[in-house]
Amino acid sequence: MKLLIMGPPGAGKGTQAKILAEKFNLVHLSTGDILRSEIDKGSSMGLEAQSYMNAGNLVPDKVLLSMMDSTLENLKDKGLILDGFPRTIPQAEGLSTIFKSLNQKIDYVINIYVEKDVLINRLVERAEKSGRADDTKEVIVNRQKVYHKLTAPVIEFYNNEIINIDGDGSIEEVTSRILNIIE
Ligand code: AMP
Repeated sequence: MKLLIMGPPGAGKGTQAKILAEKFNLVHLSTGDILRSEIDKGSSMGLEAQSYMNAGNLVPDKVLLSMMDSTLENLKDKGLILDGFPRTIPQAEGLSTIFKSLNQKIDYVINIYVEKDVLINRLVERAEKSGRADDTKEVIVNRQKVYHKLTAPVIEFYNNEIINIDGDGSIEEVTSRILNIIE
C-alpha cells in the first residue's frame, strides 16, 4: 500500500503517519526527518537545506525530487507512507512521473485539515518542547504562509482522490477517522 498524508504544519500528519506506518507495516518517509538527519550528518544536501528550513521556507524542488527519486526507487517493493512530500505542484508532478516509471500508484491521499488558530497554538506548544530551530513564532507564521501559497494547491492536484479528515480532536479520534475510511 502507498499512502500520502498531507496537511498544514501542526495538523498532526507526522503523528498520524507514524501510527499508520506501524499498523500497516509501512515505511514512514518524512522528508522533514530525512532533511534534518542530513543536516546532523553535515552532508552537502543538509548544508544546502538548512538555511531554507531555519527560515520556514521550502527547500528547492530539485533537491527534494532528486532525493525522493532515488529513495522511492530503492523502496519500490515496500509499502510506504509519504509524509511532507509532495509540498508543491512541481513535486506532485515529479512524484507522478517517478511512480509511473516504477509502475506504481498511490492508493490513498489523506488530507488532515485544522483551523489556523488551533494550528498556531499547537505549534507554539510544540516549540516549547522540541528545540527545533524552525519552531520560533516568526518562523511558525512563515511556515503557515508558505503552506497556503505553495502546498495548499497540491490538494487541488489530487482533487479526485483526496480523503479529507478533520484533524481537530485527540490523536486517537483522528486515527479512527482515518481508519474508518481506509480499512
Ligand atoms: P516538516 O518536518 O515536514 O515540518 O518539514 C520541516 C522543513 O523541512 C520544512 O519547513 C521545509 O523547509 C523542509 N521540507 C520538508 N519537506 C519538504 C518538501 N517536500 N519540500 C520542500 N521542503 C521540505
